[in-house]
Amino acid sequence: MLKYVKPYKRFLGWSVILNILSAVFNIFSFALIVPILQILFKINDTVYGFIPWYSAVARFKDKLINNAYWYVTDFMSVHGGSMTLLIICAVMVFMTLLKTACYFGSSAVMIPIRTGVVKDIRMQIYNKIIALPIGFFSQERKGDIIARMTGDVQEIETSITSSIDVLIKDPILIIFYFGCLLAISWQLTLFTILFVPVMGWLMGVIGKQLKRKSLEAQTLWSDTMAQVEETLGGLRIIKAFIAEKKMSSRFNDITEAMRKKNNKVATRQAMAHPVSEFLGTMMIMIVLWFGGSLILSSRSPIDAPTFIYFMVMMYSIINPLKEFSKASYNIPKGLASMERINVILEAENNIKEIDAPKTIEDFKDRIKFENVCFSYNDSKQVLKNVNLEIEKGKTIAIVGASGAGKSTLVDLIPRFYDATSGSITIDGIPVPELSLKSLRSLMGNVNQDAILFNDTIFNNIAFGVANATKEQVIEAAKIANAHEFIMEKEEGYDTNIGDRGCKLSGGQRQRISIARAILKNPPILILDEATASLDTESERIVQEALDRLMSTRTTIAIAHRLSTIKNADEIIVMNDGNIVERGKHEELLALNGYYRKLNDMQAL
Ligand code: ADP
Repeated sequence: MLKYVKPYKRFLGWSVILNILSAVFNIFSFALIVPILQILFKINDTVYGFIPWYSAVARFKDKLINNAYWYVTDFMSVHGGSMTLLIICAVMVFMTLLKTACYFGSSAVMIPIRTGVVKDIRMQIYNKIIALPIGFFSQERKGDIIARMTGDVQEIETSITSSIDVLIKDPILIIFYFGCLLAISWQLTLFTILFVPVMGWLMGVIGKQLKRKSLEAQTLWSDTMAQVEETLGGLRIIKAFIAEKKMSSRFNDITEAMRKKNNKVATRQAMAHPVSEFLGTMMIMIVLWFGGSLILSSRSPIDAPTFIYFMVMMYSIINPLKEFSKASYNIPKGLASMERINVILEAENNIKEIDAPKTIEDFKDRIKFENVCFSYNDSKQVLKNVNLEIEKGKTIAIVGASGAGKSTLVDLIPRFYDATSGSITIDGIPVPELSLKSLRSLMGNVNQDAILFNDTIFNNIAFGVANATKEQVIEAAKIANAHEFIMEKEEGYDTNIGDRGCKLSGGQRQRISIARAILKNPPILILDEATASLDTESERIVQEALDRLMSTRTTIAIAHRLSTIKNADEIIVMNDGNIVERGKHEELLALNGYYRKLNDMQAL
């Protein structure tokens, strides 16, 4: 937690100064109660003489009090009691003004810390999400991550960051007020202290379970967000299968569980204030009784007005103590959220660059797989001893039943995952030795579902290229057969395409993503079933665009429809993680093996 506060140190300094000032002004403004009471009740008939400030006959405190009385009685004898009262009240108002101004200032300087810390944490999570390898997210659900980013960060904001305020302000107030109490009467103060451990113990008993309970509540919040996320993505199916009731009751289960958990957390939290209030008042009453008895029996070390001042100061100390105990509840809640956030922030990124990675400007020769094995989780081998060479300029097609390991194979080239054993080299350099930037700059991807962002068409095409000009984007769109339909849109290239491009048809989305790949102009092109989800007509248009794109590049194409890869230089047939056949279309047909079987099935 401290590391998040560090950048805002200077604000903390100001907060300390302003809080000290506020405490001092408070002490002196209330000290004026004593002369006010004395004047009102005509208690004090001592005649004061002025003691010079530099004389050594008395302690500073005594000199201060004596001389203050001297000024007051002197003033009273000249201007009368009523006037003196007015002046004292005016001074008290002025002191209070200073005090509250400092108080405001001390809270105000905390605001940039609070908002800053929250923003920093959000940014860190986001940057971490971007940095983590794709493999991380198949384990942690999206809704869970969103929950951590929203709910838990919010929790930190309300609990920990608002407690920073308390943690700075209250110790200062408590120390100063306590010092003041000691100065008034150390005997009474000592008597009071006896109660503090009792109070602390009682508060601790209540606060103990809070952290665990709020952790459980936040976990349920994660599940809630996961369901919302799932529902938004699956609305079409939910409606088609008339599953609204079922989903609703599933959601009800989780929200109800969360409600119950939150009830417990909130009840415990709600106890903090009343309990400390009750204990505080009890403490004051006991002191009142004790001190009052002393004064009544005239064995008291202080007079009645000073005793009332003592009581007022003690009451002032109760509030920071109360806030303090509230913070001791809030902080564990916030720490519980912090733990959940740290799961993401401290997640290990296993796709690391080596120290001093190599860079390559261009792809010159070949990509080579040697005895590559891979498994997602140690249980099942997804790729078994794959050997493969992809020469520059060639088009390699990968075919096979679904689940054969085709996507996994191509994911290894840009290091979305690392091979479990064996090596993958580009121009003789193993991919883990290349910088991720130079490795991934070599490749352009077109996937089965075009991945687009909620932005304009222009920005979606220019996504991977900094400072792309309008001409370049239009040029790319033309090659991708996309220019025409874009121009038919009302706002042309400035049309916003909605979430994931939902305002476009499947074929249009695909052509935008092809235009994006064309603009990036990578030497290696990876097509993952780029036309699989399209109807015949849009497939023809998209395929035409792809052919243009592939003609000048090295292409690795995963294909479902064999008709689209007839002209490939080599076809790799995969089954269950193995390459079972390879060769050109005709050769493979002549082999009369697995490829032939696939081909015949599709011909039907
Ligand atoms: P294809 O692209 O040929 O359809 P994939 O490469 O997607 O096949 O998947 C190969 C195998 O790996 C399948 O059995 C699939 O269940 C498994 N698999 C794919 N992705 C993951 C993942 N993220 N975690 C665990 N297993 C996976």
